[in-house]
Amino acid sequence: MAETPNPSTPSPAGDDARAHAAPRLPTALVSDPAMLAHRVPRGFPDVPERLRFSLAMIEALIAEGTLSAEKVLRLPARPATTEELGAVHDAVYIQRVREAVERLVREQGPEAEPRSFATDVFISPGTYQAALLAAGAPLVALDAIGEGRARNGYALVRPPGHHARPAQAMGFCFFNNVAVAARYAQRRWGWRNVLIVDYDVHHGNGTQDMFYEDADVVYFSTHQFPFYPGTGGSMERGAGAGMGATVNVPLPAGSGWSVYDPVFRQVLWPVADRFKPDVVLLSAGFDAHWRDPLALMRLSTADFSDLTLEVAEIADRYCDGRLVVVQEGGYHLDALAQCAATALVALTGSDGIVDTLGQAPPIRERWNDEAIIQALYELHDLAGYRRKARRQGVRSSSVPPPLPSTETPEQ
Ligand SMILES: [Zn+2]
Repeated sequence: MAETPNPSTPSPAGDDARAHAAPRLPTALVSDPAMLAHRVPRGFPDVPERLRFSLAMIEALIAEGTLSAEKVLRLPARPATTEELGAVHDAVYIQRVREAVERLVREQGPEAEPRSFATDVFISPGTYQAALLAAGAPLVALDAIGEGRARNGYALVRPPGHHARPAQAMGFCFFNNVAVAARYAQRRWGWRNVLIVDYDVHHGNGTQDMFYEDADVVYFSTHQFPFYPGTGGSMERGAGAGMGATVNVPLPAGSGWSVYDPVFRQVLWPVADRFKPDVVLLSAGFDAHWRDPLALMRLSTADFSDLTLEVAEIADRYCDGRLVVVQEGGYHLDALAQCAATALVALTGSDGIVDTLGQAPPIRERWNDEAIIQALYELHDLAGYRRKARRQGVRSSSVPPPLPSTETPEQ
């Protein structure tokens, strides 16, 4: 049965009319095999296979026609410049990363084994270039959007970025890719109001730090709490001019769709309604997937797809669909590849979910999501929400993973 449109509620369904008027622009997919050259020790989670599996999955979808090749604009990444990085990082820190990699090569040659650089951060000979490309890839996507060549974009990158602080590498991250992109969007394209949504299971402490006193960048994060890196309590709301522009949604371990869905509809939407972003960036870590080995959340690939679509609808509503998805975490190789491919499908406006893993097994506990949301609602003085039943039932795809399953990489 068809739903009755509600004219008082702005709906992304209204975009259908525009979509019929003009052909939808493709989605920019920006990546680069040189990011595989950032090598890590055996057993370390951020393995090159994360990127390799994801790209292979996307190639398989395009090859079999699930994802139309015309809907994807493949673009190579470019290295971010020192000046672009310097918008959020200290110049001395950038130099320190470069020199550490140069010293490693000088001392042990181009095949040197990975060496510790900071807590949970290793460098190898290819690391500096990989980190520059990871920071530059979202900028390529933003340019493609700004130049009218793409509707939105996906920067499929590693190393990730959201833990990187102005002068500190941590949590697998060197440069804060999404933060560099936020500043670039403002300066190069004049998109002043930048909304950063971060559904990685970890709190993006680096991103929060960089914009904590900035009213023009709203940072919204859902994350397992308490958990690494320890920040992200709901009382961390920004400071000075940026007071209220940081919106943290700490969630208990074990949270799944029943919590994330109302949080996005009842907290993220009113935040976006109030802020009216000129561009939306999504720190897309898929480590809140129920199979992820590092965390304890219970989202499925289909759940992630719906959260991504929710963010895309915000971009549709406020900024002509301008959205760049920037890869963060995700450490179960199949779950990551399937979530990444599914997110790309969603960005192209197609319907389809690649999921051989299914839903998390049922548990007895149920969190009081109403209490969580009510507290955030009052804390941030929010008004309005989106209520809708997106789900038409369980969707699945028969597309098999292109590569053999690997539960624990390199162990
Ligand atoms: Zn993470």
